[in-house]
Amino acid sequence: MDIWQLGLASQVEHVRTKAVSAEDVASAYFERIEAVDDRIGSYLRLDREGAMAQARMVDEQVRAGRDPGPLAGACIALKDIFVTKGVETTCGSKILEGFVPPYESTVSERLKAAGAVILGKANMDEFAMGSSTEHSAYRICRNPWDLDRVPGGSSGGSAAAVAAGLCGVAMGTDTGGSIRQPAALCGVTGLRPTYGRVSRYGMIAFASSLDQGGPMGRSAEDCALVLEAIAGRDPADSTSLDEPVGRYQEACRTGFKGMCVGIPKEYFREGLDPQVEAAVRRGIETLAANGATIKEVSLPHTEYAIAAYYIISPAEASSNLARYDGVRYGYRARDASDLMDMYCRSRAEGFGSEVKRRIMLGTYVLSAGYYDAYYGRAQKVRTLIADDFRKAFEDCDVMVTPTSPVTAFKLGSRMSDPLQMYLADMYTISCNLAGLTGMSIPCGMDGQGLPIGMQVLAPALGEERLFRVAAGYQRLTDWHRRWPEVAQAQEAE
Ligand code: GLN
Repeated sequence: MDIWQLGLASQVEHVRTKAVSAEDVASAYFERIEAVDDRIGSYLRLDREGAMAQARMVDEQVRAGRDPGPLAGACIALKDIFVTKGVETTCGSKILEGFVPPYESTVSERLKAAGAVILGKANMDEFAMGSSTEHSAYRICRNPWDLDRVPGGSSGGSAAAVAAGLCGVAMGTDTGGSIRQPAALCGVTGLRPTYGRVSRYGMIAFASSLDQGGPMGRSAEDCALVLEAIAGRDPADSTSLDEPVGRYQEACRTGFKGMCVGIPKEYFREGLDPQVEAAVRRGIETLAANGATIKEVSLPHTEYAIAAYYIISPAEASSNLARYDGVRYGYRARDASDLMDMYCRSRAEGFGSEVKRRIMLGTYVLSAGYYDAYYGRAQKVRTLIADDFRKAFEDCDVMVTPTSPVTAFKLGSRMSDPLQMYLADMYTISCNLAGLTGMSIPCGMDGQGLPIGMQVLAPALGEERLFRVAAGYQRLTDWHRRWPEVAQAQEAE
């Protein structure tokens, strides 16, 4: 077995015990990326120099008998939403073309401090707005399981890189499902931590009350290892939680016996592909057959989640994106007649159509006269959704639902209809609105060989519960161990 086929935990163990050098692991990944990523498009940019320097440093520490850190030699793809000092960061947008940040995000800083090696910046929908990565201003990203289909989004590059074995673990962000939905469509494990569990410092803002970064990997264990290294209070982000970091790796070993799993009935209604439903129900049976109790629960306001989210998130985005005016960062229009003209043209030329749609929507719902009717009401709905979960979690420890109503759809098939695209998030959005934590784990394949994801939800700071269920389930099944054909292509050549 090649090093890239091993899980992250095992790769780190190899590096720590000198069985393999961090430099060799990183070189192996770069070779694979070169051989395979042309066909996928999971990376926007590689940082070979930075990665190799970091790998050499880890190897030196190992040789000197010093502790190289819990992520020694772990090769990571960072969604291009995390700013990286000295390495261009575009957030998938033309407006940030050429922006080389003068500082480092807390997430990437903590990863490196733990010995991780950042291979490069992963492809994404512009400003994380989208569910297919087709809104990337640079290149589309393809699903490694079927190159004519989308990887999901907005962290589609991160999910595809993990699925194709082009990194050990990837970092994504999840404002309305952007970690869990692409994880489901690409057959990988993705965790959206509780809002505030991981620092947002240096994570380019989309909707600040919903954004949260988290790991995407080949197993729950790999995600646990990474989360332990990046979670925790950060003085640079006042919304980061001052709560002790959980013992996520230990939770992975605990198992789910005796836990009560709630099944929200509103998540199994029209719009759900029968093959997805069947796979998720089989997953629930596996949990039941191995010591979990199953209980039907109700989240009565579920049907309003998408509407509320597509008011609140554009509202926040319209404010966050006001800073891209052609003056301070990235793209500036040429030949403007005056300052106002320069602002207008830079934004008109620099932003893509979906981002403009969100800015206009957001500006509208916040405007005097409409604020109460739209934004104010959406906030009330948000409270009702959070109350639904509070009540339902009195009767269960976690909930299990489908992650996405469908498997990976064809490239281009939803681009002309934004509403169709927004429906891809119908099961993931409530978690963000309610400030919960959620994970997607592979639980099957449809008739076309496309992965199906099962979502596990827990109350705020209930990450350990998710790891108990997910890792327990992954010990009983092998859906998370499969590789798409394209991942093996390097050998064939
Ligand atoms: N697909 C959703 C949107 O377009 C969620 C995006 C995200 O979580 N970043 O807003």
